[in-house]
Amino acid sequence: MKKIKSVGVVGAGTMGLGIAQVCAANGFETFLFDVNRDQVDRALATIESNLSKSLEKGRISELEKTIVLSRIHPVAELAQLKVDLVIEAAIEQLEVKKELFVQLEEINEGNAILATNTSSISITAIAKALRDPSVCIGLHFFNPADRMKLLEIISGEATRPAILASIKSFALAIGKTAVVAKDSPGFIVNRVARHFYVESLKLLERNAADATTMDELLRSAGFKMGPFELMDLIGVDTNLAVTKSVYEGFRRAHRFAPNQIQQQLVDDGRCGRKSGRGFYDYAKT
Ligand code: NAD
Repeated sequence: MKKIKSVGVVGAGTMGLGIAQVCAANGFETFLFDVNRDQVDRALATIESNLSKSLEKGRISELEKTIVLSRIHPVAELAQLKVDLVIEAAIEQLEVKKELFVQLEEINEGNAILATNTSSISITAIAKALRDPSVCIGLHFFNPADRMKLLEIISGEATRPAILASIKSFALAIGKTAVVAKDSPGFIVNRVARHFYVESLKLLERNAADATTMDELLRSAGFKMGPFELMDLIGVDTNLAVTKSVYEGFRRAHRFAPNQIQQQLVDDGRCGRKSGRGFYDYAKT
């Protein structure tokens, strides 16, 4: 079983920043890379602000905040990610993930575990690009990654049992509850949750109710968040990419069909909280 000491996080967006924070908070030297350099700076500022809030609430001390921040190392080049474990949290596109892992396998001379935070893409399909597909595994965090306890772990066809064992003990080391899921489109949570979004979008399209009404109603029915505020938190673009991937994965089954309203928002750059506007306007708040 491989002992993990250092982690490289690829993609410093909504998920990458939370993943970097939780790894650093649990003692791992964490290296953070994004193709967009400004995104790494924004991610570090958000992590700083998250830790300041924890400090204000008395959950951590000033010293702990300093130590966590000192364990996060921004890097400008992918080639600097020479680590024991890579956690890829770049955009939800098969070709992007394959290309990254081919390069990271080379950079690490086959010695790193290559884990992907994909929400829906087949681990077997991502691993196929590698010389040694047995080091590739799914490690699916939930949003926000620093607070949500659940992790889905997904082995591909070729994933070595020793890699699965290492990842299970890593999940424990970062304080998460891990569930092993099968490698099928959307795994468990995203497959089941697809209907929460898809059906709500159909109601919106048919003018059955507006987004605010549906969000309030579903919250009052016991859901923690309504579908539209949740899509804004996830990222409307990321949520749409996941729906498209699950739709393709199930041979375009009508029940998973993507919705034009969501596509239009993405085309207009209304990607949710991260872009200041999605179903709701965050510039006002
Ligand atoms: P995001 O759009 O917030 O961030 C993605 C980041 O990846 C961006 O900063 C982008 O610049 C960067 N990126 C794109 N191509 C890259 C490359 N080749 N190399 C390095 N960086 C690159 O997306 P996100 O919501 O953080 O999603 C990331 C992954 O996590 C996706 O696979 C998504 O399905 C998955 N995921 C998302 C959520 C969620 O709630 N948002 C939850 C679980 C899993």
